[in-house]
Amino acid sequence: MSSPPTYRTTADAPGHADRPVFGGYRTGANDARPAVLELYELTKTYGSGAGGAPVYALRGVSLTVEQGELVAIVGPSGSGKTTLLHIIGTLDRPTSGTVRIDGIDVAGLDDRQLAALRARSIGFVFQQFFLAEHQTVLDNVADGLLYAGAEVRERRELAARALDAVGVAERQHARPTTMSGGQRQRIAIARALVGQPAIVLADEPTGNLDSHTGEQILELLGELNEQGATIIVITHDHDLANRLQRRVHVRDGLIVSDTTNLPQPVGTNRTDDQR
Ligand code: ADP
Ligand code: MG
Repeated sequence: MSSPPTYRTTADAPGHADRPVFGGYRTGANDARPAVLELYELTKTYGSGAGGAPVYALRGVSLTVEQGELVAIVGPSGSGKTTLLHIIGTLDRPTSGTVRIDGIDVAGLDDRQLAALRARSIGFVFQQFFLAEHQTVLDNVADGLLYAGAEVRERRELAARALDAVGVAERQHARPTTMSGGQRQRIAIARALVGQPAIVLADEPTGNLDSHTGEQILELLGELNEQGATIIVITHDHDLANRLQRRVHVRDGLIVSDTTNLPQPVGTNRTDDQR
């Protein structure tokens, strides 16, 4: 198999301008589900410079995620999940290895180009929500489009639609301070999705929520995935991860398993982790 082409900048890559709401890529002629993320032999070593023993946070991670997938990356604390998310999200660079996002090898991009790629292709959801408390809910979400070149009126229209999609449309003029954790996470998810990114990265999105609210957030991510969003959810919670169709287990900086559920026989409720 030949490797995918490399584009020097995001603007060179095909399919960026006309992606409809929540996914729905133009597909290549012979590739119905193009890879939106390709990782090859990633390593990340912290503190290999002066003082202290180096930490080998990632030790050779290869992974491909196709458009439309919903993937859990699961592993115990310290296994390298956040490091991996930061590298996928181009917030940090690997020590070695290759990251391709939406067909673009990010190693060739400078910081400015990386910022543009992030703004266009990646939506982030964090455990701590990171909302601007002094701004309305609507403007928090509209800010997800700041780099998209849209005017404020259009940004707000798209933000209102995204808030509708996550079920908090009626609170759009409130401030986040007045809202519950579950509602805040819905707003953060709307902000991540409003620009129709190639990938949504969620790092422990239910970590600050009670289990019932966490389940609802997971359900929401499932619904958004069914509408076409490609989502990677990082969690240390096996129960949550087991609800998702594909689970990539990470341990000590390595992928130790990558499991996809087969279609379930009618009348059973079994996942292949429940043995
Ligand atoms: P997880 O998210 O699975 O808990 P992390 O990616 O946060 O794991 O951490 C993986 C390992 O790398 C841990 O041993 C952690 O202490 C170490 N680590 C993470 N970030 C840094 C950093 N900025 N500097 C040094 N060590 C780090
Ligand atoms: Mg972490």
